[in-house]
Amino acid sequence: MSEIATNIAVKLIQRESVTPEDGGCQNYIESLLAPLGFVRTSVDEGGITNSIYSRPGELKGTLAYAGHTDVVPTGPLEQWPHPPFSGLIEDGMLHGRGAQDMKAGIACWIAAVAELCGEYTPLPTIQLLITSDEEGDSIDGTIRIVEQMQENGTLPDAVIVGEPSSFKHVGDTIRRGRRGVVQIKATFHGKQGHSAYPQDADNAIHHATPALANIASIDWGEAADGFPATSCQITNVNGGTGATNVIPGFCEALIDIRYNPANNFNSIKNAIETACADCDVTLEFDHSATAFSTPDGTFLDLVCDSIKTITGIDTLRDTGGGTSDGRFLAAAGVPVVELGLTNSTIHQVGECVAVSELAMLTKIYTNIIETMRF
Ligand SMILES: [Zn+2]
Repeated sequence: MSEIATNIAVKLIQRESVTPEDGGCQNYIESLLAPLGFVRTSVDEGGITNSIYSRPGELKGTLAYAGHTDVVPTGPLEQWPHPPFSGLIEDGMLHGRGAQDMKAGIACWIAAVAELCGEYTPLPTIQLLITSDEEGDSIDGTIRIVEQMQENGTLPDAVIVGEPSSFKHVGDTIRRGRRGVVQIKATFHGKQGHSAYPQDADNAIHHATPALANIASIDWGEAADGFPATSCQITNVNGGTGATNVIPGFCEALIDIRYNPANNFNSIKNAIETACADCDVTLEFDHSATAFSTPDGTFLDLVCDSIKTITGIDTLRDTGGGTSDGRFLAAAGVPVVELGLTNSTIHQVGECVAVSELAMLTKIYTNIIETMRF
């Protein structure tokens, strides 16, 4: 079983697929899944390869697995101990770009499904939602898959996102939510002039500073729901010409907010607007990621029970890290858990993963699929 996952992982790594290229990975995945009864629906958009592979189940309900075939660039090739697209195995380690993030994870899910189909185990409907645009802008990736499923009424009942969630051992950590991100550009307006003639000018920095002080002192509330407290950081302030005797006509500030699910975009927007209410200011908001949180309950318990059964580990239900494609599925109302390999070398030169991890993750995925009931 572990050999199947390893072989698939090697073949995926050997298909060069730096974002947004898929490099033939998804055609290869289709060749593996079609004999198991999966039908592929392509949702390609804007040069991105997106696929929904679906196998109708004997049991009710739909369990999905979400992942990506694209990888980040290699960086300097001469620094790699083995060529990044070789998929070379040495001393129990599988080397190559995508080994942890996240081609080997996809391979484990496919191996788990293949094993269960081979045993004629009754299964829920299984979907694989695979994009080649996760490491890039994610504009035409998983979000397009979700839109298509919303239109067709085929959204799953739960989804495992296969990102490398684990730290030291497979299954020691899952992600049950992620913070949201709001980024703001604030441009404070005034009127430029000579510092000796302030009556003819209007100092934009003098408007900006009290407003920024208001922003820095907004009370966003406490840590909530397993998340740290919302963080609001003023990260850049620029104003003035460089000359001491020129009153600045404008001042720009950049603000980065990482919010927990106790806050939301509208409450954040209102708070920032209120803090700047006394200013002539232009505020540009970019809500680049929505916070999500899968509540404690059956789905999380089942995933953690499977990990415990296979590994004996008690799993940390984490909410850390940046963003992931889980946010698009969560926004559509699908419970999301991220569970994958360890992440010690992701995006690094010399990315690699222990082959033994693939065996472990395949067993965990198999147990989850076997025990999942809707
Ligand atoms: Zn990834």
